[in-house]
Amino acid sequence: MSALAHLAASLATGAVKTVDLTHTLDPDFPVMILPPEFGQCARFRVEEVSRYDERGPGWYWRNFSCGEHTGTHFDAPIHWISGRDLPNATVDAIPTSAFVGPVCVLDCSAEAAEDEDYLLDVEAIKAWEATHGEIPAGAWVLMRTDWSKKSGAEYLNMREDGAHTPGPTSEAIRFLVETREILGFGTETVGTDAGQGAHLSPPYPAHYILHGAGKLGLQCLANLDQLPATGAILICPPLKIKHGSGSPLRVLALVE
Ligand code: MN
Repeated sequence: MSALAHLAASLATGAVKTVDLTHTLDPDFPVMILPPEFGQCARFRVEEVSRYDERGPGWYWRNFSCGEHTGTHFDAPIHWISGRDLPNATVDAIPTSAFVGPVCVLDCSAEAAEDEDYLLDVEAIKAWEATHGEIPAGAWVLMRTDWSKKSGAEYLNMREDGAHTPGPTSEAIRFLVETREILGFGTETVGTDAGQGAHLSPPYPAHYILHGAGKLGLQCLANLDQLPATGAILICPPLKIKHGSGSPLRVLALVE
């Protein structure tokens, strides 16, 4: 049997199932808040065009607007200054092969529950690899923190000194990019960097190092607790926005 025929049969029997890693786009879903001197990402907004009424008797449809980085979303290399001169750095130009691939899930949920500023380091990645095997080149790596189970103010966890949410160290991201040659890195929080990532070196190392190397980001993921550590396939095509820096998207995983 061909590989795709085998997949089709496995989907039909339920031996392979789809897992939705996406939050619902909703005006109440929090977006990143920057210091007031900077431009701000817009929340999701929606307006009704017609709903079987005088504006359109037989049809229901709406207009929506949002930021490129609203809700569960994709970061393209051009999002960061380190990636701005790379080829194929916008969502419409990234090769589509990057949108389907193997995924490794690093479970940091216990550590994040203990420490809201938990930083995933190289030692923790190597400990994960001792159990699950080396992260293969071309893989998506997702940092599970169970942060997606929080909502409202708890989700952003903003204080006077900024956000307090988990993320990777700069050494961990450099290891994943340079030594493991990953395709992209994803988190359950509002950014790929920790809430206090501005104080790391370089500032916001996940953004700076990933995108400077042409790697991709996913944020505001959900349901990572439904994924195995290895063996799932991630499906994450962003909207094909001309010159887009990112895009809200539906993220799915195929799981045996
Ligand atoms: Mn983003």
